[in-house]
Amino acid sequence: MRVSVTDRCNLRCVYCMPPEGVPFVPHREILSFDEITRLCRIGAELGITRLKLTGGEPLVRRGLSELLGMLKGVPGIEQVTLTTNGTLLKEQINELVSNGLDSVNISIDTLDSGRYREVTRGGNLEKALEGLDAAAGFPGLGVKVNCVPLKGAKDKEYIRLAFLAKEGKADVRFIEMMPIGMGKAFAGRSGEEICSILKRVYGEPEGYDGRLGNGPAAYVRFPGFQKYVGFISAVSHRFCSGCNRVRLTSEGYLKPCLQYGNGTDLKTPLRNGADDNMIRKEMEEAIYSKPASHQFDAACAAGVRADRRNEGDEDTGNGASFEKREMSRIGG
Ligand code: SAM
Ligand code: SF4
Repeated sequence: MRVSVTDRCNLRCVYCMPPEGVPFVPHREILSFDEITRLCRIGAELGITRLKLTGGEPLVRRGLSELLGMLKGVPGIEQVTLTTNGTLLKEQINELVSNGLDSVNISIDTLDSGRYREVTRGGNLEKALEGLDAAAGFPGLGVKVNCVPLKGAKDKEYIRLAFLAKEGKADVRFIEMMPIGMGKAFAGRSGEEICSILKRVYGEPEGYDGRLGNGPAAYVRFPGFQKYVGFISAVSHRFCSGCNRVRLTSEGYLKPCLQYGNGTDLKTPLRNGADDNMIRKEMEEAIYSKPASHQFDAACAAGVRADRRNEGDEDTGNGASFEKREMSRIGG
């Protein structure tokens, strides 16, 4: 289960957040640490074993490492990991690791500081790299760098990012742009396109059949590389049949699929005194109603325009509606 702990962020990535940020959600509407822990405990009783903390930017939520420690103590939870932009990581990594962090994914779309500033609307690449270095300094901690390639960016940006895997700093993963929220207004680049750019420079890679992390990435190893390069190709290679994700938003909404708007409000029963059995039943229903697959192709065909970013296309053909929220409000 991906657990979003806030929908606020200290960056404004062009394909994820509107420039003005997200509408202000009062703190009381966001699940407390106790509420998140209770939902994760009930989820663990249903068989959920791995949690990913996300946001918005999870590290802007005060006391995140305390929540991490609480979740690590939930019976049945084997792993708690984090997805972050890394800019606040250096200051928090010690505490996160001592509270049991298992691995961290750091989103860095480019190693060119000017481009990084453009893509994140003002972010400081140095801060993200300091976070990456700090995380890479913990030998037992899994570290991955995530990049969402944008059409129009220079090939050398991806070649430079992949070098992080060559020198052994982190596994590097390229994620296809998904037509969700602001992402509807941006064209990305497919995993195949990026792989062929890398092959021209680094040679023919070997495929990797084993598991690295829990996700749907397909990994390869280029000759002489210490770490892997992965491709998460949700648009060009639909992997829905193997998807076991559910997403809990910061406002307590359980989503069975990234693309659809439907899901279950767990905050209301939680705050109205529902017992564990009632909440378990709600969670179970949401999980069993997981759609067979996304329809990113339909969403792409419906139009890629910034002014349509908040329009859900109501006609999904199966009675559900497409997600209207920004990716930063869902947690990616
Ligand atoms: N702030 C944290 C971060 O950037 O890692 C966590 C939240 S962010 C929403 C999680 C991931 O979603 C990031 O790697 C980001 O690049 C990715 N993302 C955001 N919008 C996307 C989109 N439309 N398509 C694909 N990935 C997207
Ligand atoms: Fe913030 Fe992450 Fe979205 Fe960038 S991708 S705006 S860092 S939530």
